[in-house]
Order: sequence, then C-alpha cells, then structure tokens
Amino acid sequence: MKIYADHAATTKLTERAAQVYLETAREFYGNPSSLHTAGQRAKEVLEDCRGQIAAMLGAAPREIYFTSGGSESDNQAIRSAAYAGKKKGKTKLISTAIEHHAVLHTLEKLEKEGFKVVLLPVGTQGIVDVKDVEAAIDDSTALVSVMFANNEIGTLQPVAEIGALCRARGVLFHTDAVQAVGHVPVNVKELSCDYLALSAHKFSGPKGVGALYCRTGAPLSPLIEGGAQERNRRAGTEDLPAIAAMTEALKESIAGMGAAAAVMRRLQDRLIEGLEKIPHCALNGDRVRRLPSNVSFCFEGIEGESLLLLLDEKGICASSGSACTSGSLDPSHVLLAIGRVHDVAHGSLRLTLGAENTEEEVDYLIASVTEVVSYLRNMSPVWRDLLEGKRQFIL
Ligand SMILES: *Cc1c(COP(=O)(O)O)cnc(C)c1O
Repeated sequence: MKIYADHAATTKLTERAAQVYLETAREFYGNPSSLHTAGQRAKEVLEDCRGQIAAMLGAAPREIYFTSGGSESDNQAIRSAAYAGKKKGKTKLISTAIEHHAVLHTLEKLEKEGFKVVLLPVGTQGIVDVKDVEAAIDDSTALVSVMFANNEIGTLQPVAEIGALCRARGVLFHTDAVQAVGHVPVNVKELSCDYLALSAHKFSGPKGVGALYCRTGAPLSPLIEGGAQERNRRAGTEDLPAIAAMTEALKESIAGMGAAAAVMRRLQDRLIEGLEKIPHCALNGDRVRRLPSNVSFCFEGIEGESLLLLLDEKGICASSGSACTSGSLDPSHVLLAIGRVHDVAHGSLRLTLGAENTEEEVDYLIASVTEVVSYLRNMSPVWRDLLEGKRQFIL
C-alpha cells in the first residue's frame, strides 16, 4: 500500500488547478506590466485572481499581494511592521515559541538588528494564552505575530481574540495562516489582523506561490526591489499560471471544506484511538483544538528518523517533528515548547491526513506504526533500560 500522510509538508496539485496552470501559461503568456493586448489580457487574469482571493478571505483586492509563498509572506509582514515600529521608537516584537521557522528566524535576525523579541510559551496543550499576549503588550510593542494553526502539532491558536486585543491596543498583528487557509474558515475581518500569510502548496495549489494580506493602512515595505509590480511592494514579473492555479485550488478547497473536515475528523479519531493503544506514547497538542488533519505522537524509547525510514519501506510518507536538517540533532522546538524532554521529543511522528485518505489506509497506518515502534523498541538499549527500571518512563 502507498499512503501519503504528510499533507502539512505539502499537498498534491488538484487536476483542475493543474489544468488552469497549463491553460493560463499557454493562453495568457503576456507580461501583465506590458501595455499591449497580450499584456493587458494577462493583467486582467491577474486582477481577477486577486479579486477572487480577496473575496475568499474577506479582504479588499488591493489588500492582497502575491508572493513566492508562506516564507516570503511571513518575512515581509514581520520586517515591514518591525521597521515601521522602529521609526516610532517601538522595537518590541511579540510571538510564540511554536512558530514556523519563517517567523522565528526572521525574528532572530531582527533581534540581532536591535529589536527586542519576546516568545510566549504555549503550555502543554500547545496553545498560547491570550492573557500572556495581553501582559506582554506595552507601549514599545511594534508587532504581535501568532500563527493560526501549528504545522507540527496542528493546534489552533486563539487568533481572533488576539487580533481583537491587538486592535484595541493599537498594535499591529500578523498571523501565519499557512496551515489554516483552505482547511478551516479564515476571514481577515473576523481575525482583526493587519497581515496574514498563506501558501498555495498547502491547499493543493502549486509550490512557490502564495499571498500576503496587508490591511489598507498597515505598513508594507518590499523585500525584493526592482519593478513596480504589486503596487511597488513586490518586484518581479508575476507567476500568472501559478497565481491562477492557486486561485482555483483555493476555490476548490473552500467549496469542499466542510465535507473534507468531516471525513478527516473521522479518520483522525480512528487514527488517534488506534495509536493510543501503543504503550508509552502521547498525543502532542490539544485533543480538540487542532486541525482535523493532524495526528502527532511521541513514542518513548525510539528515534523518529528510524521510524520514518521503516514506515517509508512500508509505503508510508510521514514526517517527524525532530527535523534533523543540516545534520543537527536538535529536537523540534515545538515539541520542546509543549514540555517534551529531548529523548521523548526525538521519538515523534507526524501524520497529516487529506480528504482522499481512507479508513483502510488509517488501519494500515495503525498496524504499521504499531509494528515498527515495537520492532525499534526491541532493538533499543534505551528501551531495555526502561523495562529493567534503570531509567524511568516519562510517558
Ligand atoms: C509551510 C509553512 C510555511 C512556509 O510556506 P512556504 O510556502 O513553503 O514557504 C510557513 N508557515 C507554516 C505554518 C507552514 O506550514
């Protein structure tokens, strides 16, 4: 069996979006900045897409800026707010310990430039407390940035409450909604946000394209200099085929959202119940306030990387929280933030479902993970120590 259970990493382009991509590339090849007919026809498609995406988010068309994806949108929102704040002597940036690296690494860079960065805790359930945000805001605060839904453990943050709070206190608010858009209802008015980042490849659109919502009146400075595209905020010839395919994918996602969520909730329940039967494991993140697609577990006494490789041999595409990128063995900052100790955090597994996954696949996932965890534990000296009482079980 071949099972794709890594939808938080990326999703497969829909058939319709792929068609729209090709049709747009073939038909509307003109440069939207050109004054001739071919250019103006492309420009019309571009503005039509902007209008549709704006409408789907509750925004005005002029508040939507096309970018290369979630990372760029996060970078631009945060830097724009930070530099605008600095001009008014506001240098405090508030965020959470579980943000995506596109947010965290941008904040780290800004910290080196002299900004004061405060990363709020999220407790064992992986949800930031609005009271902590409130307590952190002061007269020197330039920006609050809190993600809508976490990419590793799926927890939904109280973004609408945080947005309302920021609006009342006159502080700019950015939300990285990359995991939310196309999956749960997202409306910029209800969120009272000034910036919102989205990425097409997380909702079955193409990779390398996304958008930044920036409320009219909120500061926005370009990251990329050059032409006057995107009202001077983002230079570079627009990737019209990708933008059109993203628009199509978002329409499809929103149209099918209710049905998809219902399917995934059932699969999620089944998967969590099945995996919970494995001894010495724990679900990561709040059981209820999470995306319907996300199932994240820690299994004591194993390494997430070995688990992933053995699952891959069984045809399963999954992910581990402890991204061993560039040879570093740092466990996931998200799992550490919810209180998992290093050893436990290393034994993590993230399965993220799509509406195409089936009950049969979920049963295969449960059987495979159960088998592989037990196989790895039987080989592990750490597991023997745990069984013999030389080490204490944590989970
Ligand atoms: C995937 C992701 C990003 C980055 O988006 P890209 O389009 O891949 O750059 C940012 N934030 C979150 C929460 C994500 O899941």
